[in-house]
Amino acid sequence: MNELTLAARVNRLGTESAFDVLMRANQMAAEGHDVINLGIGQPDAKPPKTAIEAARKALRDGSHGYTDPPGLPILREAVAADLHRRLGVDVAPDRVFITPGAKPVMFFAMLLFGESGVEILYPDPGFPIYRSMIDFSGAAATPYRLEESRGFSLDPESVLSRVTERTRLIILNSPSNPTGGVTARQDVDRLVEGLMEHPRVAILSDEIYDRIYFDERRPPSLLEYPGIRDRLIVLNGWSKTYAMTGWRLGYSVWPRQLADKVTRLAINCHSCVNNAAQMGGLAALEGPQGSVSAMVSEFASRRTRLVDRLNGLSLFSCPTPGGAFYVFPNITKTGLSGRTFQDRLLAEEGVALIDGTSFGAAGEGFVRISFALDQPHIDEGMDRIARFVSNL
Ligand code: PLP
Repeated sequence: MNELTLAARVNRLGTESAFDVLMRANQMAAEGHDVINLGIGQPDAKPPKTAIEAARKALRDGSHGYTDPPGLPILREAVAADLHRRLGVDVAPDRVFITPGAKPVMFFAMLLFGESGVEILYPDPGFPIYRSMIDFSGAAATPYRLEESRGFSLDPESVLSRVTERTRLIILNSPSNPTGGVTARQDVDRLVEGLMEHPRVAILSDEIYDRIYFDERRPPSLLEYPGIRDRLIVLNGWSKTYAMTGWRLGYSVWPRQLADKVTRLAINCHSCVNNAAQMGGLAALEGPQGSVSAMVSEFASRRTRLVDRLNGLSLFSCPTPGGAFYVFPNITKTGLSGRTFQDRLLAEEGVALIDGTSFGAAGEGFVRISFALDQPHIDEGMDRIARFVSNL
């Protein structure tokens, strides 16, 4: 067979190992093992009934054609109205883009800003696709660490100290995957203040977990800072808030000066998002929000119980996450690397979780455990983890 010659950038693509672990766990389950999957990154809740009904109705009523590449105008308007309602900000609907899930927003941002000779800052530990896409683009991936001692909340000085004249883009994510850390408002204030000295640096704020938080005060959105509006991209969507991961429905807000470029990327990439799914998304935004608050209060009680249980094991220490549905405990006292811990726990106890280094080098000594699973399964998973650790 002839060897095919591929573009060099392809070899720089990383992956999201949560999907590898998911496939391994599914394989074990198919072979008859009793597997508890604490590696999963999607809510176990159901999407709002209104969304399901609206999508069915859209299919019945003839929503079968292409839509405008940036999204149905009525949905872009509804996103803008939702942002106004929730955050008190004014966003023009023509700056809102609907994408097939939120991930393409990262892809587009990296294609627009990344190339050889420039630097892009990203959180470590952080969502693995940031690093993968920066590498793919040819830019230098420059990590800023999220520290356990700060509950994995971003330190603005640490980010600002890494900005150079080559920095083009900074990626932020709060509440964070994999740590559940939330950036405090005074730290966002300080970061934005510092970025005023670097007016050519763009910001990609991944706010996909913005509705899933456990303290009284909601996490700040970067949209609340008008001074950076002309260089801010905000990523969000329906996947986590409305438990609609498989619908592939995301949205983003872009600076007006990039709107034409984003439209072109959409036309070149996916043409538009599934028409009926957009109608379902519209109903989710405009309908009752009870399913969101019910899901979040369920997550809150699982979180407390899980953190207590983990901290009850002498070989674990676990900060309490402020948002998302993950905990990121320190496992260094077990004497195992995160990777060995992950692999042995799955093989010996049938419990899937994710090694912290899947989220960057700073994740060594940690694992990510998701609590997007019903309480009895989390309890059973924790019993098995306790047994595994006590046998070490
Ligand atoms: N951003 C973060 C931080 C995530 O954890 C995820 C999914 O796990 C995404 C973005 C992607 O969301 P979507 O499934 O809508 O593409």
